[in-house]
Amino acid sequence: MKLLLLIIIVYLVYRAGKSWVMRNLQAPGQNGSRSPRIDDVMVQDPVCGIYFPQREGVELRHGGQTFVFCSTVCRDRFLEKQNGQKSA
Ligand SMILES: [Zn+2]
Repeated sequence: MKLLLLIIIVYLVYRAGKSWVMRNLQAPGQNGSRSPRIDDVMVQDPVCGIYFPQREGVELRHGGQTFVFCSTVCRDRFLEKQNGQKSA
């Protein structure tokens, strides 16, 4: 009778301990809810076509759209195209 009681206690402790461990394993994951930063978003330059990190690009708002260029050179080329709408 004592042995059975011991087994039940061990079983309950084991179950409680397991769920406690599971909770503690999952807790750190919830701490990683920092504000999402768009650091490494790769975008394509619409002028020269290369891919680069958006944070290093040059942003331009044009016609309700936001374009990102690899450099001010490409941005200027884009603006030249937009301003001089000649048929190339
Ligand atoms: Zn470019």
